[in-house]
Amino acid sequence: MVNQIVIVTGAGNGIGKSIAIAYAAEGAKVAVVDKDRTAGEKTVQTIYQQGGDARFFQIDVRSPQEIINCVEEVQTLFGHINILINNAGVSAFHNVYDLTVAEWDDVINTNLRGAFVFSREVAKVMRHNKIGGSIINIASTRAFMSEPNSEAYAASKGGISALTHALALSLSEDGIRVNAISPGWIETGDYDALRSVDHRQHPANRVGKPDDVARACIFLTDPRNDFITGENIIIDGGMTRKMIYEH
Ligand code: ADP
Repeated sequence: MVNQIVIVTGAGNGIGKSIAIAYAAEGAKVAVVDKDRTAGEKTVQTIYQQGGDARFFQIDVRSPQEIINCVEEVQTLFGHINILINNAGVSAFHNVYDLTVAEWDDVINTNLRGAFVFSREVAKVMRHNKIGGSIINIASTRAFMSEPNSEAYAASKGGISALTHALALSLSEDGIRVNAISPGWIETGDYDALRSVDHRQHPANRVGKPDDVARACIFLTDPRNDFITGENIIIDGGMTRKMIYEH
């Protein structure tokens, strides 16, 4: 990954932070994108402390214009963009009877439209520079299975899953691969409930770690794995493969 330029959105916290740190550890230069300045700058600081190279870009992915400006700035600063990780997102849960159109739009515009606009803008740079590239969309197991009151989130993640294979076809001529990762429960904070209850949903008998997702990103974007595109890798300790049965 040495000399690779990587954009990671939502890299101030959780899964995105781990992904940014993992790429920097592999020698990549990382554009840390987040709307949260304090969190984003902390990620950059961590990367520097570990001997890596990163820059923070504060934007809101709900704003197409801010995305366009950000991609231009990254291209100007680093000269190219090799990898884009669309990870910024919100996990909103509302009772479906009270879910307003404004709340729906907010989740879709963050999780789905943001990934589309970022992909479109980065793909333009990759096409122009003629050395291909790789895009990863962080989806969710909620693209395939549901819990109550998750309509907007589930639709955004189902959408990003379909966006992945649509883009993979459209961008293949320009040597751009597009894949998704669908994580199960990932422990990104100090959530006792996650450890004490949710691990039971995973046949692996633990919740996931952000690094479980970060390692898969590195694998998928490794140029040696360039026969993989349009794929959606589920990283959920077997949860979506589990049959519920009672004797
Ligand atoms: P996860 O547990 O899935 O990693 P987090 O909430 O810990 O989720 O991290 C999501 C990151 O995405 C946060 O750092 C948050 O600030 C960022 N984010 C959320 N919405 C936006 C947005 N509209 N624009 C930019 N970044 C965003």
